[in-house]
Amino acid sequence: MLAEQIQKVQEEIAAACKRAGRDPSGVTLVAVSKTKPVGMIEEAYAAGMREFGENYVQELVDKTSRLPDDIHWHMIGHLQRNKVKYVVGRAELIHSVDSVRLAAEISKEAVKQCITANILLEVNAAMEESKFGFALQEVEQAVREIAAFPNICIKGLMTSAPYVENAEENRKYFRQLRQLSVDINEKNIDNVFMDALSMGMTNDYAIAVEEGATLVRVGTAIFGARSYN
Ligand SMILES: *Cc1c(COP(=O)(O)O)cnc(C)c1O
Repeated sequence: MLAEQIQKVQEEIAAACKRAGRDPSGVTLVAVSKTKPVGMIEEAYAAGMREFGENYVQELVDKTSRLPDDIHWHMIGHLQRNKVKYVVGRAELIHSVDSVRLAAEISKEAVKQCITANILLEVNAAMEESKFGFALQEVEQAVREIAAFPNICIKGLMTSAPYVENAEENRKYFRQLRQLSVDINEKNIDNVFMDALSMGMTNDYAIAVEEGATLVRVGTAIFGARSYN
């Protein structure tokens, strides 16, 4: 059953790529498994899925210890600085870096572990009060500061668009994020080349792909609705 849902999402990604004249190999589907049991992740793994996204540090730690090593874990939820040590070295990519202080802590931990931490900067494109992330106009300055830190590599930008009935309404935010990454690349900042764009969730991933997403984070369409108890 999960195999079919994954297949369906992959097909919609391919269709969106076709509409936009993109190569589907440029889009990575991240299966967002937060709140879902290990058994469901194993089922998705058996169907070939290797990219999983988690929001909560405790869940990430628990699941990484119980599931195969060849899974790439994506940290997509708000991260507190005192929990950075559990995430660096476990997550392939931290999508949700929303402050320079958090990036500094990630850098410090990566130096300690002698690894490079790959991150995205989270952008609150719609300026929603309930969401974390840099304002669009703050991003360039943050990139300049973070790029100077050791053992950290900014791969691109991430956003979560508002929940809307009509996903078309979010197209403008995806476009803005893409444009911002193009603008920053054109500044030729030392050590910065951003080409990852993490945008699009169950309700709007097809539009995000049309607008250039390279990573889509899809939970509900793969695993079904979540219940938070
Ligand atoms: C939960 C979550 C998702 C997945 O949302 P769905 O609507 O279930 O696809 C994607 N990104 C982030 C940051 C999330 O917290």
